[in-house]
Amino acid sequence: MVRTRFAPSPTGYLHIGGARTALFSWAYARKHKGTFILRVEDTDLERSTEESVQAILDGMNWLGLGYDEGPFYQMQRMERYKVVLQQLLDEGKAYHCYASREELDKLREEQQAAGLKPRYDRRWRDSKATPPAGVQPVIRFKNPLDGAVVIDDMVKGRVVVSNGELDDLIIARSDGTPTYNFCVVIDDWDMNITHVIRGDDHLNNTPRQINILKALNAPLPQYAHVPMILGHDGERLSKRHGAVSVMQYLEDGYLPEALLNYLARLGWAHGDEEVFDLDQFVEWFDLDSISKSPAKFNPEKLLWLNQQYLKKTDSKRLSELVVPFLETDCCNPETGPSMEAVIDLLKERVNTVEELADAAVYFYRPLTPSPELMAEHLTPEIIPVVREFQEKLGQVEWNKQSINGLMKSVVAEHGLKFPKLAMPLRLLVTGETQTPSVDAVLELIGREETLKRISAHMK
Ligand code: GLU
Repeated sequence: MVRTRFAPSPTGYLHIGGARTALFSWAYARKHKGTFILRVEDTDLERSTEESVQAILDGMNWLGLGYDEGPFYQMQRMERYKVVLQQLLDEGKAYHCYASREELDKLREEQQAAGLKPRYDRRWRDSKATPPAGVQPVIRFKNPLDGAVVIDDMVKGRVVVSNGELDDLIIARSDGTPTYNFCVVIDDWDMNITHVIRGDDHLNNTPRQINILKALNAPLPQYAHVPMILGHDGERLSKRHGAVSVMQYLEDGYLPEALLNYLARLGWAHGDEEVFDLDQFVEWFDLDSISKSPAKFNPEKLLWLNQQYLKKTDSKRLSELVVPFLETDCCNPETGPSMEAVIDLLKERVNTVEELADAAVYFYRPLTPSPELMAEHLTPEIIPVVREFQEKLGQVEWNKQSINGLMKSVVAEHGLKFPKLAMPLRLLVTGETQTPSVDAVLELIGREETLKRISAHMK
């Protein structure tokens, strides 16, 4: 039975990299009809916040990455960690280290001066010395002195780390609190995690974690370390490269399925397939098809994908998504044409829900055209043409074909081309120069409102 987990530290929003790790862990569990667990690694009390926990839960929820167990919180498992710490001490697999900061600083300086890599020299490992009075010791793990740790990583392949390179890790601080690497190990063990899928920035921790698991006679999970996500310039992804917070994409009018599709393609591919849904992804996904090299984040491609999804999304759902954006644009979507009809007209022309809302504003309230554009398009030569159109508009049957027919006959009478009338009309009614075909726009805005808007400028 496959059991995977996503184990974010709640020290900020859910970012793109975390969401991709979550997606891969989720998909692997789904593919194998396994269990996906959410574990909040909140032991860093200075940096963890409630808001961040909430942001992670909101992000997972928005993306639709449901977890089968959890959320578990490490801070609620302290008693359990303490039991295992004591067990390791009792079994002689861990020991108290009383070395003071000054002592360790001195050791480091000496090692550096001798050209050696600074490393704790295990002075308390087998010491029979009487502990100094008044010193609260840390607990260190007795790392094996010989041999090597072999990781058959499902993404990276075989990684071998000699135990000689690993020192005796601190697993509990002098105040008794367990350290990060220790908690992860106990959790992965207790939660029966079979596949640890995480960013390759954790690969360094893996040999240490494996040694602790072995000391506990715990089964070893399989590991899959996923390469980082970089910006276009090859630097680690950060705000400089565009939004990195998942929820920012909601605010910017992206669809969760588009973001998921994009994340799926970051460092994983199935031939040249670009647009596919989650079910398809779960079917195709496998850990050994994750790329070994870092992925580059490309906001333009994400935007393109979002547009592909917008086009396919039914207008009813889009109308629900667009309302909050329209409200911030001071529109009352209740007073005006059917939102679904407006969206049908606009959705092929925009990339995001936010753009959709911006493009829909003039259907719900008039926008004032700029005087420069008015002067350019509503020339003295055109004013009588518009006026004639305005007068005849009262009698025309109200649909886009008839409106179009009227426009054509009016321009023909004056020996003008169609855009000569279409452009000023567009400006008068919508305040803009870029809109779908003007007859379709007028049809939706309605006869009364159209006449009202034209008249407002044609006294
Ligand atoms: N809490 C770690 C992080 O947010 C993840 C640890 C893990 O997946 O093992 O980077």
